[in-house]
Amino acid sequence: MAELKFCPVCRADGETSRVYPHGRFITAMAIEEFYDEQGQHHFHDRNNHASSYSCSRGHRWVENIRPGCHVEGCEFGPRTVQVEIDESKLTLSPEQLHRIAEVYGVGDAPSFANVAPSGDSHA
Ligand SMILES: [Zn+2]
Ligand SMILES: [Zn+2]
Repeated sequence: MAELKFCPVCRADGETSRVYPHGRFITAMAIEEFYDEQGQHHFHDRNNHASSYSCSRGHRWVENIRPGCHVEGCEFGPRTVQVEIDESKLTLSPEQLHRIAEVYGVGDAPSFANVAPSGDSHA
């Protein structure tokens, strides 16, 4: 089943919108894979999977996902999601951040960074 995708800002506002992907950038680091002494499969992907999106209500954001290792307690660490919301005037309340964290369905809240607008060039 495909993963559901929502605009985190709209979701936090209780609105619905259409989401448009704008490409994906994956770093090119080597992946380490092995079966440990307990026979558990470790798949260590150090790459950052960055995907940018916009929504029909004008929000823009980038999701940075580090896949992590699914073996519990592995020192490599679990999957992390970092969301950069490109909305310089946007202020998100703790309640909204909590709802956004739920959108991403990760145990720990994703970290957020308000991205400074990349210059004033609308070229
Ligand atoms: Zn939105
Ligand atoms: Zn591992």
